Amino acid sequence: MKLEEFGLWSRRIADWSKTYLETLRERPVRPATRPADVLNALPVTPPEDATDMAEIFADFERIVPDAMTHWQHPRFFAYFPANAAPASILAEQLVSTMAAQCMLWQTSPAATEMETRMVDWLRQALGLPDGWRGVIQDSASSATLSAVMTMRERALDWRGIRSGLAGEKAPRIYASAQTHSSVDKACWVAGIGQDNLVKIATTDDYGMDPDALRAAIRADRAAGHLPAGIVICVGGTAIGASDPVAAIIEVARAEGLYTHIDAAWAGSAMICPELRHIWEGAEGADSIVFNPHKWLGAQFDCSVQFLRDPTDQLKSLTLRPDYLETPGMDDAVNYSEWTIPLGRRFRALKLWFLIRAYGLEGLRTRIRNHIAWSNEACEAIRDLPGLEIVTEPRFSLFSFACTAGDEATADLLERINSDGRTYLTQTRHEGRYVIRLQVGQFDCTRADVMEAVAVIGELRGEG
Ligand code: PLP
Repeated sequence: MKLEEFGLWSRRIADWSKTYLETLRERPVRPATRPADVLNALPVTPPEDATDMAEIFADFERIVPDAMTHWQHPRFFAYFPANAAPASILAEQLVSTMAAQCMLWQTSPAATEMETRMVDWLRQALGLPDGWRGVIQDSASSATLSAVMTMRERALDWRGIRSGLAGEKAPRIYASAQTHSSVDKACWVAGIGQDNLVKIATTDDYGMDPDALRAAIRADRAAGHLPAGIVICVGGTAIGASDPVAAIIEVARAEGLYTHIDAAWAGSAMICPELRHIWEGAEGADSIVFNPHKWLGAQFDCSVQFLRDPTDQLKSLTLRPDYLETPGMDDAVNYSEWTIPLGRRFRALKLWFLIRAYGLEGLRTRIRNHIAWSNEACEAIRDLPGLEIVTEPRFSLFSFACTAGDEATADLLERINSDGRTYLTQTRHEGRYVIRLQVGQFDCTRADVMEAVAVIGELRGEG
């Protein structure tokens, strides 16, 4: 492709992007596409000859947008959001153009130093103490795996990375049943195994019971196991539950265990000082992850891991082969040494654009609105005959179900999602099939939220 042509298509694609965002409300949130529709629309063999960009772009328009679930749709209330504020999209366009590989300071001085500064801006924004440091990862799963590796190696006095786990006691990790499945996967991948992830009982509000935690750790020690760390949940995926952070950290301190807080979704809400009581004591943790790509507005992917002291994680993950040495720059920060992958994207730029373009106050207003509208939607659904609220709003997430039972609830969800005007997803709560509704899409309005309620009311049938 010639560069003049590249410029032309960049402008066309910028125009397409603007129109896409402007007209998103007119599209169904979830497409009517059937499995294999897209596969069958793509030639089975690759082309031998070059294709004209006009043809490639026409095929893109014909095949892709109508077969996408539109995560930026203002009536997307499923899962948790994966936001892309327009200002952060612009930063990603620049990053795509520079296509930097940001593994070392030397390979990306601006990206590395901006990462240091953005992590510190966010530390301040979330009210964490001075002195904490951190790194931007692709996902909360990667950050949690990094923390679990650190828990493992600390407990084994770093013998695991030297000689493997054979002959060692398996380190044990503690978490509640409300923590995300990424914790289970981190334990599998770290060689700890599912049996050594101990799920601690919760109290009435679905937070981990500190007394049960203490008892489990002590019983495990007495039985010859090796307690290593605790993953604390703030804003769990199913219903938004949070553990009592300060009380859990007190147990961890007394038992000498490493702590990691998974606030992948709810961490963004901590930019609002009035919500910080939910993770009171977080400054006592060793590691915290939150995803600015979920609720803050940074384009996917962007996950920030804060570390009270990075030494143990660096000791667990740093490898410096000859070909990555940067002579004379031993003091430079090489963020690949803080994480599992070597190659790293330039993720700090979208944070820089996002935070400056909206200001922290603009971002807080969005989160406060989402919480207020979620509460309003919850009250409106409570009034609908045949439906009941199963879990009350936590941050901007609540769940509801049909009084007629699980089958009716699953049918209702299918009708809502086939209709296309909004998109919701399900979970099981205490064995019951429930529909989750979270408000968090960057550009949604109160009218979008209330339209979702109207759709639910219209399609609920006899309940
Ligand atoms: N933790 C929580 C509470 C989540 O809700 C999620 C995903 O929704 C994750 C972790 C995993 O996040 P990621 O997709 O960034 O790995």
